[in-house]
Amino acid sequence: MPLASVTSLAETLRRLISPEQSRGMIKAAAGSLDLIPDHVNRVTVGEWAEENRILPTGLTPMPGPFRWGVAPYMREIADCLSESSDVREVAVMKGAQVTFTVGVLENFIGYIIGVAPGPSIFISADKGMAEASVELRVDRMIESAGLAGKVFSQSEKKHNKKTGDTKAKKEFAGGFLLAIGPNVGAKLRSFSARYEVFDEIDAYPQEIGTSDHTKGKTANEGDPIALAKKRTVAFEQIRKILYGSTPLDDSTSRIKPLFLKGDQRYYNVPCKHCGHMQVLRWRDPDGTFRLKYETDAAGRLVHDSVHYECEKCRGAIRNSDKAVFLPAGEWRATAEASEPGFRSYHISALYSPVGMQSWEDICQEWINAKDDLTKLRAFVNTVLGETWVEKGEAPRYERIMMRREEYKKGHLPDGALPLVVTVGADVQSDRIAVEVVAWGRDKESWSVLYEEVPGDTSDIDGEAWKALRQIITGRHAGLPVFRALIDSGFNSPVVYQFCETFVSGVLPVKGDARLQADRGTSRVYALREVPGYYVKRVDLDPGHLKQEIYNSLNRGTADGKPPKAPFPGYCHHPFDYGERYFRMLTAEERVRETTRDGKGRMVWHLQHGRRNEALDCRVYALGCLSVAYGERVKEIEGEDAEAKREAREYTWSDFWTEVEAIKKAS
Ligand SMILES: [Zn+2]
Repeated sequence: MPLASVTSLAETLRRLISPEQSRGMIKAAAGSLDLIPDHVNRVTVGEWAEENRILPTGLTPMPGPFRWGVAPYMREIADCLSESSDVREVAVMKGAQVTFTVGVLENFIGYIIGVAPGPSIFISADKGMAEASVELRVDRMIESAGLAGKVFSQSEKKHNKKTGDTKAKKEFAGGFLLAIGPNVGAKLRSFSARYEVFDEIDAYPQEIGTSDHTKGKTANEGDPIALAKKRTVAFEQIRKILYGSTPLDDSTSRIKPLFLKGDQRYYNVPCKHCGHMQVLRWRDPDGTFRLKYETDAAGRLVHDSVHYECEKCRGAIRNSDKAVFLPAGEWRATAEASEPGFRSYHISALYSPVGMQSWEDICQEWINAKDDLTKLRAFVNTVLGETWVEKGEAPRYERIMMRREEYKKGHLPDGALPLVVTVGADVQSDRIAVEVVAWGRDKESWSVLYEEVPGDTSDIDGEAWKALRQIITGRHAGLPVFRALIDSGFNSPVVYQFCETFVSGVLPVKGDARLQADRGTSRVYALREVPGYYVKRVDLDPGHLKQEIYNSLNRGTADGKPPKAPFPGYCHHPFDYGERYFRMLTAEERVRETTRDGKGRMVWHLQHGRRNEALDCRVYALGCLSVAYGERVKEIEGEDAEAKREAREYTWSDFWTEVEAIKKAS
């Protein structure tokens, strides 16, 4: 029967379940557990899934009746969520393409609706994502598992124009499922839940708060997981909490501490040659790769060469062998859980079922990623299912300065192969610091010029802006300036006006650390409209780029001398740059800062007594490349699926190949 539409989420929740009701439900449930254990449902999530689920075509590479044989390792995880299991909390730290969503998350929700109903909350990285998951995945699961009759017609309001609010919820006999984002404080204050699913928790914002404009910043509400978990206290004896995530940054990961809190299970599989049970891993602690591959003379992957080497007998295991060894595997705990009833699992994409991400795909992804920090981070997160550990210490400026090369500023050394030149400018009140950088393939860089041009920067006709214009319109190392980013944090209107005098390629830039949410993708910037100007501003994640610069500065040859051959990422400097420059280039450090909720986060700090203009200029000069790359991806992207796939697969290597072709043609 259709439910009347409601006016607010809070009202819905109050109507769905009052505290008295929930206490009644608990008493009833607890009573039945104690007195008549036979009434506890003996059907497991695993059994329910095989008996009821049909995977629809279009949403899965393997449509048809659901079978655990495809990804057998997911069954134990799902079974922890059965009413008969005494496991209360499950944390899954995982790579992509391991069928967690279908195998655990969807089956759990189906089981709740079909077998063991109760008030349930599904929390994803943001509200939109949570709602989309429910609409796209849970709805289909409900239909295909024959649960549609159990779910009441939806009272969901598609568009509430006043609040811009849409609510995704399912109501069924004995419970409901509510999909929300991690800003849970105010929403959940007044009710209880028996089931909670926290999906992609490493993508939750670091600080959750409600907007409080009077304070000029957001008031911290505290950890969303702790807040939501409090809502299950009334159901302590029968609750189930599931945490799942692909891990992101090590310093801020939420899933990793949860994994460490549990019994840390890894999936062991037998070698087909010697039967030795082992955990599939990418590398040994000594750095040896377990997945082996060869490349041809052109650096392309030789597909037939890809195999996993048994850690005991060194026999070759192929991707197609997964169909045999995955079902023969078992989970083994490697630690004692710090709380009873707390299980934790780790699974990487090396276990991805046959027909999904293959070992060949993974080797190819590695080849594309190994020299590109952004892609490497994504590889570590999504393929290996591991956190990314950043090395944030500033490089020692003496070491970088020692390896200055035999070329004068304004020139390049013999053998340099620059493809484009970019400019980064940092605007102060009485001067503009500017760096001109020549870039070769794979971001090998030559600093061509670093200058601080004096002048009052509030005067657009003044000397400082004139000098900057000359640099931007000039040629450097024989090349015109490809792009320039001008810091607009200071004297913004003048910066916008200055940029508008160029037809294209010269844009205002502003650092925005909040863009960090995009880490793991190739985009570290956003293009924003500026009211009153037609020029768009580039908002850039400076932390990400500083990290990339430091990693580049830390690259070098074994003997510490400048490389003679092309060297991806290497930073070359002319011999007439002084100590002051190198101290500025390495002026900031990435340090851990403890937030109010006791969690850590990494922030960039200026070291005592240092200035950082040279580092900022380099951030903007490098940012020019990020923007060029990102805009190229957008250009390819288009509407149809084929173009979208092509855009996804566009690599930095493709970018440099195109840049080389353009340079050759000109
Ligand atoms: Zn073996």
